[in-house]
Amino acid sequence: MRFQREHEQAPEQMTWEEFKVLLRQCVTDRQFPHPNELPRIIVLSDKVMQYLQQDLGATMDDTRERQAIFVFNIFEKTISLTPSGTGKTIRADNIFRLRPGDVAIGSYHTHPPVTGELHLSRGDFTALLSQPSSREFRVFTLLLTTSSGFLMAIRTSRTPLLNKENLVKRLKSIEHDMRLIEKNIARQVLLFTKAVCLELGLVLYFSPSDNPACFHLVDVTQIPSY
Ligand SMILES: [Zn+2]
Repeated sequence: MRFQREHEQAPEQMTWEEFKVLLRQCVTDRQFPHPNELPRIIVLSDKVMQYLQQDLGATMDDTRERQAIFVFNIFEKTISLTPSGTGKTIRADNIFRLRPGDVAIGSYHTHPPVTGELHLSRGDFTALLSQPSSREFRVFTLLLTTSSGFLMAIRTSRTPLLNKENLVKRLKSIEHDMRLIEKNIARQVLLFTKAVCLELGLVLYFSPSDNPACFHLVDVTQIPSY
């Protein structure tokens, strides 16, 4: 018999402040959240939304992706956001000089208008599921677009620990399966996003364009949309 850690059922809804408490706990315990600890709705703060919208606006102007990292400082017990940068590689040390005690706990990035459904790419999942280290303990990633809303994926205690080579292999094999199942490329990427979350134990949230601060839990076993 396997010992199961007891988990309190999450509240129906969490504010950004409450979500930050959970994040701080995760990093301090070096343990990803159990799916039961995650609420149905997470509402981001006005301040965070302001940063996201600013970068999204900039991406719409010049079509370059923007990204930034949420950093937890284990000594100060604070969560802050790095200045945003452009480019494809989402690494905290590329765009921000890490201070002692800084741990990357999450990220966001923008996508310029693209065809196809809202999705997280293989590269996005690879960045989120990087091996935890003293500098990296990525719990979540946010993807922003103007047309179809925002996505957030949260890594959980159910997510297998894979080295980069095995992770990429696994993601490529899911990609391959989705190509066989769905010929329409626009829909393939949506299926890929859901299949990865299902298979790798991630919890997915979607926020619609008309209320982007409010992230709703997605049932990844339901195919039609978010
Ligand atoms: Zn992306």
